[in-house]
Amino acid sequence: MSFTLAIVGRPNVGKSTLFNRLVGKRLALVDDQPGVTRDLREGAARLGDLKFTIIDTAGLEMATDESLQGRMRMLTERAVEMADACLFLIDARAGVLPADEIFADILRKKNAQVILAANKAEGKAGEAGLMEAYSLGLGEPLGLSAEHGEGMADLAYVLRPMIDLAEKEHVDYIPEVDIDLTDTDEEHDEDEVVEYIPPTPSKPLQIAVVGRPNAGKSTLINKIIGEERLLTGPEAGITRDAISVMTDWSGTPMRIFDTAGMRKKAKIQDKLEKLSVSDGLRAVKFAEVVVVLLDVDIPFEQQDLRIADLAEREGRAVVLAVNKWDLEGDKQDKLKQLKEQFGRLLPQLRGAPLITVSALTGRGLERLHDAILEAHQVWNRRVSTSALNRWLVGMLEQHPPPAPQGKRIKLRYMTQVKARPPGFVVMASHPDLLPASYSRYLVNGLREDFDMPGTPIRLFMRSQN
Ligand code: GDP
Ligand code: GDP
Repeated sequence: MSFTLAIVGRPNVGKSTLFNRLVGKRLALVDDQPGVTRDLREGAARLGDLKFTIIDTAGLEMATDESLQGRMRMLTERAVEMADACLFLIDARAGVLPADEIFADILRKKNAQVILAANKAEGKAGEAGLMEAYSLGLGEPLGLSAEHGEGMADLAYVLRPMIDLAEKEHVDYIPEVDIDLTDTDEEHDEDEVVEYIPPTPSKPLQIAVVGRPNAGKSTLINKIIGEERLLTGPEAGITRDAISVMTDWSGTPMRIFDTAGMRKKAKIQDKLEKLSVSDGLRAVKFAEVVVVLLDVDIPFEQQDLRIADLAEREGRAVVLAVNKWDLEGDKQDKLKQLKEQFGRLLPQLRGAPLITVSALTGRGLERLHDAILEAHQVWNRRVSTSALNRWLVGMLEQHPPPAPQGKRIKLRYMTQVKARPPGFVVMASHPDLLPASYSRYLVNGLREDFDMPGTPIRLFMRSQN
């Protein structure tokens, strides 16, 4: 019997979407034969190298014969009994609803091993819901996007020890996986860190090249994918559409989101102004790493700042590239000036790489490639809980939190709850009283001490007395 995971949650949170992603459409379709009413769908799931069985309680909307709630409860209970663990989904965009609480109660009563996840967490719209999920009292929620495939590595990260344990010991009952704060054993530590998986042709590094019109986006992308493809255009045999292009850039499989191509298409349609804003937004949402391409003659224009800020707020890794460097006379002086402007105008991107390039001649492109790859690694970084807590102790000693209104704020422990970008939760007494400057101190410290330059770092405070 393989490890079985039940996907539970109220209708419309994305259970089927996740089921289909994990099982693959092929199998899901077999189960969806017309005329066959199935209560629980079962499928062989694959997540990276993990293999397990999933059961899905979706499709309850179809149940008209009995009351929806009663049926939901019955099916969920059955799924829980069949499964080794439950993946409890809520909708990050909707937040925690009363129906979600009902499910949480069922899971608690059944003493189920629960992985709590807030689905539809792509982009910024899901952040509040993700944090709200803590209120269910089922531990740390994962942020997932079943539709976009985000958070799958995080899911694998929490599933792996459960599967290993179940398979190793053949036990029916699996103890809860909890953070053990007394565990500072270095060796054990290593196990908890997920290694960076380099991009592959089936999972290419997704980048977007954004910037003002005429910054050189088309020139850059064409240089990367090779001039010949440009000359031959989007005809037979060339995998290039208006939206993205797959390429192998110096051995790294990449999918490049081409806003320049979109803009040129928009121009034909005479909707340039209207489309350019949403183009940038779409590109940023698509990308893992956003390359903000600046024109050396007019760097850090309002439009550049806006898109760079957007990329940071959306949680993307950012690389700044200053183009047309071949035109620059006094390179040393200009670079100093650019760095000063960068620090002053985009403090939120502190530590992000600034690379000078010439899309026209190809100079600097290798460095740009390396910076993108490195930014991607940092963005994916995971720090083990024990290392974080050792670090936190040092930070607190060095600079204790203030005591506003005579109340001492205690920061008890912290853990990384997500990657891409890295997100951390700190359990604190009176987190609402902690000044933003102290959070900044911690974020800057994380950045320095765990070597995470230029990636957005999310730090959440969670109340615990
Ligand atoms: P179920 O009833 O729980 O099985 O939910 P479905 O899988 O049928 O999904 C309900 C709706 O949410 C569908 O319209 C999906 O396309 C949408 N959905 C599922 N996952 C995501 C996601 O990750 N992000 C967003 N934005 N929508 C999603
Ligand atoms: P886009 O609007 O951002 O796609 O910009 P294009 O790629 O169309 O480039 C705009 C203009 O800048 C064209 O005339 C390019 O030849 C020129 N250009 C692009 N990159 C460079 C560069 O590195 N050096 C110089 N000198 N000109 C460049």
